[in-house]
Amino acid sequence: MNKKTGIILSCLILIWPVAYLLAGETPASLKKAVASIDPILPYQLARAMASPEFAGRLTGDEGYTKAARWAAEKFKDWGLKPLAAKTGYLQPYPSPYTLIDEAAITLYLPDKTGTDGQLSYQKIELEPEKDFLPLLFSDSGDKTGELVFAGWGISAPELNYDDYAGLEVKGKYVLCFRGTPEPGRAEFQYYDEHRTRMKTARDKGALGLIYIYPDVQANPNGDWLSGFMPAMISEKVAGQIFKEINSTAADVKKALQTYQRPISFPLKSRLAYSVKSRHFPEATGYNIAGWVEGSNPKLKKELIIVGGHFDHCGRHLGLLFPGADDNASGSAVVMTLARAFSTNKLKTERSIMFVLFGGEEMGLQGSTYFVEHLPAGLTQVMAMFNFDMEGEGDGAWCGLSAEPPAIRESIEKANKEIGIIRGISVVKRAGVRGSDFTPFFLKSIPFASLGSNGPHLAYHGTGDTIYRLNPEIMGAIARVSFLSIYYLANNQVI
Ligand SMILES: [Zn+2]
Repeated sequence: MNKKTGIILSCLILIWPVAYLLAGETPASLKKAVASIDPILPYQLARAMASPEFAGRLTGDEGYTKAARWAAEKFKDWGLKPLAAKTGYLQPYPSPYTLIDEAAITLYLPDKTGTDGQLSYQKIELEPEKDFLPLLFSDSGDKTGELVFAGWGISAPELNYDDYAGLEVKGKYVLCFRGTPEPGRAEFQYYDEHRTRMKTARDKGALGLIYIYPDVQANPNGDWLSGFMPAMISEKVAGQIFKEINSTAADVKKALQTYQRPISFPLKSRLAYSVKSRHFPEATGYNIAGWVEGSNPKLKKELIIVGGHFDHCGRHLGLLFPGADDNASGSAVVMTLARAFSTNKLKTERSIMFVLFGGEEMGLQGSTYFVEHLPAGLTQVMAMFNFDMEGEGDGAWCGLSAEPPAIRESIEKANKEIGIIRGISVVKRAGVRGSDFTPFFLKSIPFASLGSNGPHLAYHGTGDTIYRLNPEIMGAIARVSFLSIYYLANNQVI
């Protein structure tokens, strides 16, 4: 070493700690922390969550509670602080639920009128999951009745819209689509909720409500109503019913969308529907939450919430709905971020809380409860990051609130490094079809919601298994989120 080099080196050694302090963490240590996020971790976590042991994680059911304890144990192992000293990582809340043990539907379609003037019927047995599923909150029963088609199943006199006008549904099954005459109109949102539609049909004396969906999906989003038996059939099956009016499910739906006025009529087709179910009105659901305390004495009171729903649709009729993509994948990303922020040496000025929500599939119940019961002393939420369905595809999208611009800037800055987000859009309205960011949005808490670009082909089906998941996409979403949350927690956006 010559003298000149020696002087330069001594200067560098002197300057280095100053520069280090001014810049916060070095980009090199940040890069190292990002690189240490291994895609195999979210994959392994998702595989455990989607395993039969946790029985499809239906909130309230023992499979869910077992999974919640497993996740809490992970948070503990990784050194996260528990949500509350008394209850630890679990936040309990009331969560009634229903299990369907057996179900059968037989359709009786009008065939021909005999010489005696009597109508004869063609009998069709429907196949579970392929042709039909009970809605996962149906009461037990065995009832046969005529079908009555009632458009979108909406009765909204104050909006001058009534699919039930002039229709007698007492002792019959109401057949309808899910949707509203004007999808862009906020006043119809309340009527788009499953609970509203079920209650309307029940109050009008119907035996049950039969939804028409393009494909049959598991759906636990509703209340158990005494004596009421709702179900879902595919558009293909509905097409067989609409043959008696010489139409198809697609044509009837198109007419409703085009004319935006009620199209309702009684049908000759009959439906025999039997269900054996068990309802648990006193059950308990859990959110699972742990946090990392911020290093700045002032800023640590400000919280960034990183969450995703932990629940799925459970096990019914002997069918397991594993919910690997929806939302073991998002929960696994949340847990991976929890581990990364808790175990690496980087400090964040603000505090970060990681939450796995219960009851999203039942209508955003866990996240709604969480927003209403924020931990004392940590009520200043700076932002919420939501993760829902992160396992399928090769890219990601992001929906976020317009304010503050720092959220978008943090994500764009992080994405320059990782390059996985294909599109960012501002969410202007969130309602019944939103994910767990909705209760935050409704309280004007800024948020960003990330999802992989799919396609999510086995959505709410038994085919949503671990084999559909791509570890690389979960890893990349965890990395880009780690960076953007880090920037936001440290005011390093610009
Ligand atoms: Zn979901």
